[in-house]
Amino acid sequence: MTFYVLWRNAKILVSPSKLCRQITSNRSIFSSKNLCSEVRVRFAPSPTGFLHLGGLRTALYNYLFAKSRKGKFILRIEDTDQTRLVPEAAEKLETVLNWAKIVPDESPLIGGSYGPYAQSQRKEIYSDYIKKLLHNRAAYKCFCSETRLNLLRRDLQRRGETVRYDNRCQNLSASKIENFERQGLPYCIRLKLEDITEPFEDLVYGPILNNIAELEGDPVLVKTDGYPTYHFANVVDDHLMEITHVLRGVEWQVSTPKHLLIYKAFGWDPPNFAHLPLIKNSDGTKLSKRQGDLHVESLKAKGYSATAVLNFITNIGGGFENRDHNAVYSIDELISKFNLGRINTNSCKLEIEKLSQFNQLQIQRCLEVPSDASSLIAELRQLLKHSFQDSSSSASTLQEKALSDERLLEVLLWSKDRIFKLSDLLSPEYSYIWAVPQDLSFHLLPSMSSAPADVLHTVIDSVASIPENKFDKDNIGKSIKDVGKRFGLKTPVVMALVRRAVSGLKQGPPVGEMLAILGKETSLDRLKYARSLL
Ligand code: GLU
Repeated sequence: MTFYVLWRNAKILVSPSKLCRQITSNRSIFSSKNLCSEVRVRFAPSPTGFLHLGGLRTALYNYLFAKSRKGKFILRIEDTDQTRLVPEAAEKLETVLNWAKIVPDESPLIGGSYGPYAQSQRKEIYSDYIKKLLHNRAAYKCFCSETRLNLLRRDLQRRGETVRYDNRCQNLSASKIENFERQGLPYCIRLKLEDITEPFEDLVYGPILNNIAELEGDPVLVKTDGYPTYHFANVVDDHLMEITHVLRGVEWQVSTPKHLLIYKAFGWDPPNFAHLPLIKNSDGTKLSKRQGDLHVESLKAKGYSATAVLNFITNIGGGFENRDHNAVYSIDELISKFNLGRINTNSCKLEIEKLSQFNQLQIQRCLEVPSDASSLIAELRQLLKHSFQDSSSSASTLQEKALSDERLLEVLLWSKDRIFKLSDLLSPEYSYIWAVPQDLSFHLLPSMSSAPADVLHTVIDSVASIPENKFDKDNIGKSIKDVGKRFGLKTPVVMALVRRAVSGLKQGPPVGEMLAILGKETSLDRLKYARSLL
């Protein structure tokens, strides 16, 4: 049986298995679940440090693709390069993915029926499989020494030619190989590259033709230390783990023809490949793994929510239906909007300012849903306890009622358009909400014609006379202004005095608002305390 599919407006004849790939790639005009096996994708990081934003994007797009197809998302740790290993990096990766809500179905920690999920525990599997390639002569042992390879490299460089292995060991006779082995010479195993004449279909970039045999020498599959290279282990694992789609950064696109040749050498059906555009810094420079503040862990430590980070990373580069770039989406909404066919091919720049914007939108959104608001309240309470516990001053001890659900919700509703992160509420700008300011420094205020203590005294009387149910910013503002008039003081001067008295701040939100959020009782307590110091 054959089918026709539409590929970039062209009608193409395909076999049923190829049709499955077209369907799962989103580019097809057909849709039939029964024709296809379950979608299985993987995120395959090397545990060399923190998870950077490029890695997070790859993990997320794999997850979104899997979940939008009711498929499985697998975490596989590619730790065969022992020289680059960082202790505990693998565990941390899984923890941070869980925080980001990108929860694997199978992984080193969770397990699964395709394990082990760390390549360092699969060495025997690779050594079994390399024997098959040696046996069918798709691969060969290479005894070239480090010294020879260095000389070759230097010679090619001197002549201005492409540096590549000259495939010298490709046709060693059986007796020579036996002889070298008897001498105990170290060897690596290389793949015999074949010419590639047909492009492969990148589900994002379209047809890609890259005849690597023209550009490089035969690549190493197993190193002299017996460890497989990334290319070999990656292909063997993708095959054994029944990966149907490989979604990874475009920097790996050059490796795909090599991988396809390995599949061919084994006689295996390859998965589909989709490459994701490069992410750059806002200024167009390359994202570096060393940029500490762009690690997911550091964004988390800075107080950004997982949802904000996910929106930040998916807001560029495409991949979604009807996305409003000024709205924040939950991971489930991202799943339902995801469309692989909508991923852009040109590189995309991070929009750093969006991170705060999304975080604010997320706070606002949470406040609209009671269960999410409760989590937000709990988070804020935790932050406050932690922050005030560390503070040694008794003046700043937090009172129980300042931490009640009701009070925290009130503060959150008041601040939701002002703050970008919950932790902003702990900054000097807002800490007056929680605790009596430690330094009132009245001497720094503009001098007044009247005694500040007298002015404050009158402010206290005036504020006290505002009925509880009318204790709002307008009424408070008006009553303080009136006190100023009575003393012949300019409004900004009296406002500065009251602001300092209740918050210790030189600048801040309008004074009426500050007192309103403190509430009548606390405002009066603060004003009285300040007067006692004057
Ligand atoms: N281990 C590779 C990495 O560190 C995986 C690339 C791939 O997904 O094939 O990114």
